[in-house]
Amino acid sequence: MKNFKCKRCGQCCHSPRLSKQDISRIEKAGYEGFIYTDNLGNNYLKDKNRWCMFLVRGKKSSCKIHGVRPKICRQYPSELIHGSCKPVELAFDKFIENK
Ligand code: SF4
Repeated sequence: MKNFKCKRCGQCCHSPRLSKQDISRIEKAGYEGFIYTDNLGNNYLKDKNRWCMFLVRGKKSSCKIHGVRPKICRQYPSELIHGSCKPVELAFDKFIENK
């Protein structure tokens, strides 16, 4: 999103879905054992205590694989809801829309 400035709160970092290209890129960077596959065959980054395993939480959170992170992480957020990029705001807005 143009003109979006990430504040590094880390609240969007919950087990993103992985494409084959994401997996290949992360493996080429030397990582392994990071994939969780659901019973439909979809691949996700594993979590650790409900957060992405690569998130380093803090006042300014950071990503251990920033240079090779999944495409969805690079694209987030695609929109802001009431000026916020927090997933809970986005989910709440969708809930209202579907009523
Ligand atoms: S890969 Fe990095 S940016 Fe993506 S969810 Fe994990 S910590 Fe966040």
